[in-house]
Amino acid sequence: MVALYRVLCLVDAICKEYTKRLVISRTTSGNTGKNAIYQSTLELYCLRLSLLYPGKVNYFNDTVYAEEQLYWSQQQQRTLPVCRFTPTQASEVSAAIILVRTTKCHFAVKSGGHAAFAGASNIQDGLAIDLSGLSVLKLSSNNSILSVGPGNRWEDVYLFLDPFNLSVIGGRVGDIGVGGLTLGGGISFFSPFHGWACDNVANYEVVLSNGSVVNANSTSNPDLYFALRGGGNNFGVVTRFDLETFPHGDMWGGQVYHPIQTNRSQFEAYHWFAENLNSDPNGALTVTAVAAPEYGFLFANNYEYARPVENPPIFDNFTSITNFSSTIRITRLPDLVEELKDAQDYGFRQMYITATFKNDVQLMSDIFDMWHAAVDPIFTEVAGLVAALVFQPVTPRVIEKFGKNGGNALGINPDDGSLTICLMLFQWSNQNNDTFIINTLESIVSRANTIAKSRGLYHRYVYQNYAYISQDVFAGYGPENKARLLEIQQAYDPEKVFMDLQPGYFKLRE
Ligand SMILES: Cc1cc2nc3c(=O)[nH]c(=O)nc-3n(C[C@H](O)[C@H](O)[C@H](O)COP(=O)(O)OP(=O)(O)OC[C@H]3O[C@@H](n4cnc5c(N)ncnc54)[C@H](O)[C@@H]3O)c2cc1C
Repeated sequence: MVALYRVLCLVDAICKEYTKRLVISRTTSGNTGKNAIYQSTLELYCLRLSLLYPGKVNYFNDTVYAEEQLYWSQQQQRTLPVCRFTPTQASEVSAAIILVRTTKCHFAVKSGGHAAFAGASNIQDGLAIDLSGLSVLKLSSNNSILSVGPGNRWEDVYLFLDPFNLSVIGGRVGDIGVGGLTLGGGISFFSPFHGWACDNVANYEVVLSNGSVVNANSTSNPDLYFALRGGGNNFGVVTRFDLETFPHGDMWGGQVYHPIQTNRSQFEAYHWFAENLNSDPNGALTVTAVAAPEYGFLFANNYEYARPVENPPIFDNFTSITNFSSTIRITRLPDLVEELKDAQDYGFRQMYITATFKNDVQLMSDIFDMWHAAVDPIFTEVAGLVAALVFQPVTPRVIEKFGKNGGNALGINPDDGSLTICLMLFQWSNQNNDTFIINTLESIVSRANTIAKSRGLYHRYVYQNYAYISQDVFAGYGPENKARLLEIQQAYDPEKVFMDLQPGYFKLRE
């Protein structure tokens, strides 16, 4: 750490002169005031990093910069930082955090770049810290723990583990990042058995706001460990996730397409499945109504079973519903996540929004009707529109796993019973449609919540990984957990570096 400070001081001397000249040149050229100074400080900051770590800082006009390859949504692709720093070690992340703290520059941190709204993991006129260079994948000597750098995508992780007949709890689409998914919760094909991704992290290596690199697990920094299990980007930059592995070989799964008219049977089958999943937690599913111009309206459901069993009985109510196409087969996990990856497009405008309810057929049906009525008149009018309404269960067994190793921060308790997470997502092409789409989706969620409240089916939880920026994720964790998180934030980040200097994504505020 002392050596690092010495290098920083040396670099500082070169940079101070550069800043002085930059500010003078900007003020004499008419670019005056706070913005000019702020911009110059940022450029200085980027220069410092590039002197310290040659080849790891890129600028907008560099060929390797390519925002469109780094981020999934158009909103994030069009957010342009002053420079992008790609560290390859925790000590380099630490140097970047020390610099932002001292210069008060704004920054964003990116893992897989799949958060949809602008600024979630990118930053206009700030510093983007891209974790893609932190790509370690290493099994412990007894194969029980996989150390994973946040530069990995889930497909990298599963491909690495496949020859060992092992897996971990992670994302269901190949190129989702390990970082964002795990810090927000993380729903996997295997969650009904093992819980969410955050409940299967044995240890986090974290860079704190003072630049120190610490471990957080059930015995070392246990408060921080609790906070990272759902706390998003508010507590530090995680430079390594140590994930618990489990034996895993062939499995059954794929996508099945059903006519949209089967909606009532879908929700009845879903309800039965969710209520009975505890008896066979090898099953997992998403029930998804989709509207896409090429296909019209349909259900594109995902069915998975963790073992190589064809048509397992837990899915009987779905297998008896008419379908017109299916990719279901016995296969390996990397093949399944590749299939789902192929179904997603880069470069479109994207919006996710979510709500949580008690498991109820009539409520699902009413939400479906609202969604259908909103989408039907517009989906051929709005350029590039693809709309989806997704339901997925959170069963009592999953909620039990939320309590593992001291518990996670999500605020869902065993007495909440069987819950359903509802996700609505829209994809479209043209920025001019943003306001209309945001209003449409916010209105459906608000009406759905009102109906759910009136029937005693509402749950306050808002799943961070599916939430829209206007939603209050941390209020959804409940007053006790939110208060505890604020105390932990005060202990680990008293200057609020990760809240004030990293403005993007869901912030933990009083
Ligand atoms: C096509 C698609 C499929 C999805 N499938 C699933 C799924 O199967 N299960 C599920 O639960 N969710 C799923 N999601 C939601 C997904 O979990 C979130 O979008 C998540 O934020 C993506 O993580 P990322 O690392 O790719 O995103 P990023 O945009 O890189 O990061 C998201 C947020 O996490 C922060 N962050 C990331 N890494 C770190 C780190 N190491 N330290 C500190 N902060 C960090 C970033 O600053 C940012 O604020 C899916 C999303 C999409 C678009």
